Amino acid sequence: RAGADPLLKVEGAVMQFGGLKALAGVNLDVRPGTIHGLIGPNGSGKSTMMNVLTGIYKPTDGGVTLAAGAGSGKRLDGLTPSDIALSGVARTFQNVQLFREMTALENVLVGLHHAFHGTIFDAILGTPRRRREEREARARAMAILDFVGLGSLAQVEARNLPYGKQRLLEIGRALALDPVLLLLDEPAAGLTAPDIAELITIIRKIRDAGITVILIEHHMDVVMGLCDRVSVLDFGHKIAEGSAREVQADPKVIEAYLGS
Ligand code: ADP
Ligand code: MG
Repeated sequence: RAGADPLLKVEGAVMQFGGLKALAGVNLDVRPGTIHGLIGPNGSGKSTMMNVLTGIYKPTDGGVTLAAGAGSGKRLDGLTPSDIALSGVARTFQNVQLFREMTALENVLVGLHHAFHGTIFDAILGTPRRRREEREARARAMAILDFVGLGSLAQVEARNLPYGKQRLLEIGRALALDPVLLLLDEPAAGLTAPDIAELITIIRKIRDAGITVILIEHHMDVVMGLCDRVSVLDFGHKIAEGSAREVQADPKVIEAYLGS
């Protein structure tokens, strides 16, 4: 994994809210095929970085580039969230955002929608093409639910799933976009120990399936167990970077956490 060109390159990202620089010029290289941890005390700018990467916020300054195969990369900053999603960057949110009245299967089908291109006439008339696409979409959605361990809960409404399963469903819905890069914002927040163990297994499976992961997480054991590389933010600055073991032992990192 080492030595590969970055899949995602963030250069000098600044995000200013009034007088506050939530990001004060952050560089980030995320290597393909890795789980890259983004950690730091509360308010250090982690979610802001996610929102910049996914187009929710337009950075005040700096650039975000996604490698597009060999050679030139694709600039993401300035694109809309949906164009960034279609470029292969999917995410989950710090707070679960599901269609609560829809089943697990339907939630994933919403994520798959972009992949099927039937015309409005196909939809209205229920043409053979439309019916075939619907069958394919359902099969893919079921495969995704199986992948995140929710196959037996496909027909359960999202609001009736236990919280840990809702978080896995959010990941499944993001995977339906067929991303090259998946951003997870505190996926272990509020989970029980057995739920966290299951989540760790699934995140590893996602990485092993070739999807690069950026993981915001404050459970240090999750970060230690999963991340190939970790960047640490504090007050909008990157203060350390390295293996999970290296950053955990870094005096600057220890001080940042003690001061929070
Ligand atoms: P983290 O996710 O690391 O806890 P955030 O990125 O959410 O931190 O926030 C970083 C800083 O930016 C905080 O001081 C927060 O209050 C501020 N902030 C985040 N989003 C906004 C916003 N939309 N408007 C104003 N300030 C914001
Ligand atoms: Mg946050």
